[in-house]
Amino acid sequence: MSKALKIYFLPFFAGGHVIPMVNLARLMASKGHQVTIITTPSNAKIFDKTIDDEDTCFHVHIIKFPSNQVGLPVGVENLLEAYDDQTVRQVLMAANLIQPEIEAFMKLNPPDIFIPDMVFTWSEATTKTLGIPRLIFNPISIFYFCMIKANKSIDDPKEEALLLLNDTKLDPSYVRFYESVVNSANNCDGVIVNTFLELEVEYTQLYEKLIGYKAWLIGPTSLMVQKTIGTCMNNDEHECFSFLSSKEQNSVLYISFGSMSLLSDEQLFEIARGIEASGHQFLWVVHIKNKRRDDNTKEQEEEEELKWLPKGFEEKTMKEKRGLIIKGWAPQVSILNHSSIGGFLTQCGWNAALETIGAGVPVITMPIFSDHYFNEKFITEVQGFGVEVEEGGEWSLTPYDPNKKVVSRESIEKAVKRLMDGGEERMKIRSQAKELQEKAWKAVEEGGSSQNTLTILINHLHPLILLTSETPLC
Ligand code: UDP
Repeated sequence: MSKALKIYFLPFFAGGHVIPMVNLARLMASKGHQVTIITTPSNAKIFDKTIDDEDTCFHVHIIKFPSNQVGLPVGVENLLEAYDDQTVRQVLMAANLIQPEIEAFMKLNPPDIFIPDMVFTWSEATTKTLGIPRLIFNPISIFYFCMIKANKSIDDPKEEALLLLNDTKLDPSYVRFYESVVNSANNCDGVIVNTFLELEVEYTQLYEKLIGYKAWLIGPTSLMVQKTIGTCMNNDEHECFSFLSSKEQNSVLYISFGSMSLLSDEQLFEIARGIEASGHQFLWVVHIKNKRRDDNTKEQEEEEELKWLPKGFEEKTMKEKRGLIIKGWAPQVSILNHSSIGGFLTQCGWNAALETIGAGVPVITMPIFSDHYFNEKFITEVQGFGVEVEEGGEWSLTPYDPNKKVVSRESIEKAVKRLMDGGEERMKIRSQAKELQEKAWKAVEEGGSSQNTLTILINHLHPLILLTSETPLC
């Protein structure tokens, strides 16, 4: 009988990293393996409500976040809470400072295998010292990694798409950071990537050549979980669903810029005017983490809001039942899968890209920082299931760039109309989105590429390790 593997997962402190890694852990637990997520108190809150208390295969080990050492207020442990570069640097510093506590924990309770996020570049030294096999988790696209490398030098850039962004000015410090992340795969036993073979088949070989290790494509993890366990990390009770359910099929534009990006007041204002002018219905998620103060009076809140929302905008759209604004966290996967959603105006985070593929929803791309620009090219030029907002802005290193050029209402209106008005172009893009959706669901079905890869990976791991647990699969 197969024995259960004892697997430790260490997600990086960002929504776009925690969510797909917890999905992967839930998947492994659903196959009967003993999984433990090592994380800090606030990061555990991102997923703890979605975990079944009765699940004897899924465990969470809480470590302290080194708040004092990095100078962050207690409770700020994730890039979800960040609203400036300084906070990002402090969170990254904390990611390095947790090494001794994790090492001590693993020394006392060694796992069969350790799966840290790629950001934990120290994990190579730790697992080497303890003699524990290690797989790296990469939550972003293979295409993007190939592009970053292509900007430096590539032996054989036969893929035309690799040259797409060659004239983009990448900040050298950014390239250095990503090189250290790529190098974090040194001496690992492979890299697990949140993608699926049929989506990135042209780049997979090149990626493996660049990193020098086997890539295990086990995604989209959100779909793997939906298919295997039947739920996703979302709350379907949210008030937005009564709004969506009153709408016709494919008639609502979903607007969200992910978990980290903070748009300026001016940019939010232009988005409001742009969607208003387009005449289309919308569901708009706005993260106002830097605007909310506990001690704000109602008047102060209203004053604050007038900086980014045209006067009377919300009341008018609600009265006309044309739009809804969610100020805070939204159940994105469930929203995208609602039949009324006909398009997604997105920052192009890799999770957003995979989630919209899973739902067969075409997109409008408005990248904000980092890999978003590469994902935009992948979506619009390589895979053809989206349209760009023109003058989408220059490449930014950070989501908090105060000098970021504001994208005009006219550009936003034009792109919304291009996707939502109908016509031949929209039909073509929509059918491409549906085709990719089919491929993604095939990949996660029994016998599909991602399911098969997961099975092969587990079979591959067994002989690599001396099983610490004698537990049979649960
Ligand atoms: N997300 C969500 N609700 C929100 C904002 C984000 O559920 O209101 C989730 C989204 O579904 C995705 C993740 O947060 O899984 C964001 O990751 P992504 O790679 O799209 O973007 P990032 O936030 O890293 O830019």
